[in-house]
Amino acid sequence: MTTKNFRPLKDVAHGHWEFLMQHFGLGEYLRFKKFEGPCPLCSTDAKSTRFRFTDRFGYGDYFCSKCGAGDGIGLLMKYQGCDFKKLVADIHEALGTDAKALPTKALPTDTSCKPQESDERARKNLVRVWEEAKPIQPGDAADRYLSSRYLGMPEYPAAMRLHPGLKYFDEPNKKELGKFPTLLSIFRHPAGPAVTLHRTYLTEKGEKAPVPKVKKMMSPVRPMAGGAVRLFDPQGDCLAVAEGIETALAVRRLTRSKANPDGCPVWAATSASLLMTMKVPESVKKVWIFADLDVDIPDQPNQINGQRAAKRLSERLVAEGKEVVLYRPDSVEEDFHDVYLRTHVLVAA
Ligand SMILES: [Zn+2]
Repeated sequence: MTTKNFRPLKDVAHGHWEFLMQHFGLGEYLRFKKFEGPCPLCSTDAKSTRFRFTDRFGYGDYFCSKCGAGDGIGLLMKYQGCDFKKLVADIHEALGTDAKALPTKALPTDTSCKPQESDERARKNLVRVWEEAKPIQPGDAADRYLSSRYLGMPEYPAAMRLHPGLKYFDEPNKKELGKFPTLLSIFRHPAGPAVTLHRTYLTEKGEKAPVPKVKKMMSPVRPMAGGAVRLFDPQGDCLAVAEGIETALAVRRLTRSKANPDGCPVWAATSASLLMTMKVPESVKKVWIFADLDVDIPDQPNQINGQRAAKRLSERLVAEGKEVVLYRPDSVEEDFHDVYLRTHVLVAA
């Protein structure tokens, strides 16, 4: 990092921290201006009261009674586990500027901070959708869908449910395209509470629903960074992690052994950037990372893809004292669901 680069980014971002915090998934912390709340960097307890986001000088200023004071740039770098160069690119992208120009777009400058009302609506919506859903049963749409992907099982994780008929709204016009049986998975904050629901829209036959985007997230009620879909919780000191939910279910099967007939406990991040931020419990000492092997885009060296996310996650976990093994599919554009199909299903067929 050079000071020469540092000043301009600070200036570019100056006055835009409400927007940037929202953009990078830290919108919830904006409310901690007048009263304290949990620190996005060091709190694992949602009830902790050590953090304030004051934005006092317009530089995203914050204060934490445990990890100290800093500005928005430092906060984002630590929060995302990314380097300065990556953040420069991300902030410019978010603000629609380039490295040499100042923002020209009109940006949200509303400094009032009232996320509570919409948060409360989102929270009620999550609870309602989850309560309307039922555990997955043999022969229902979710079981048919997963079985067709060779991921069926006699008993499904409690973190997954089937909603009998969830409305699908097209974006951005919010037009309703119908109701579909929907596979739901709970995405949890590292401290435990639910953050959001991952949805896979299906047909009664267990096929993918005829909608533009089969897999979607509901509006999160807290920041997603650090969290995961906890499919199978660690019994001992070992945890496998993967990006996609179906990939994670395949990893469960791939890690079956005589000593471990059910396979490894496994969590899913749902995206490469969330895999990068995933936090694992202190009790876990060994982490097996099963990352996707995405195509590398040469002119976008900072783009987060499966392997880059896995590498960053691995580096962070090693620094935390964990033993990490990074697994990589053999071929480009493969994930471990593909590997499972290729090595266990096609061979057996
Ligand atoms: Zn802190």
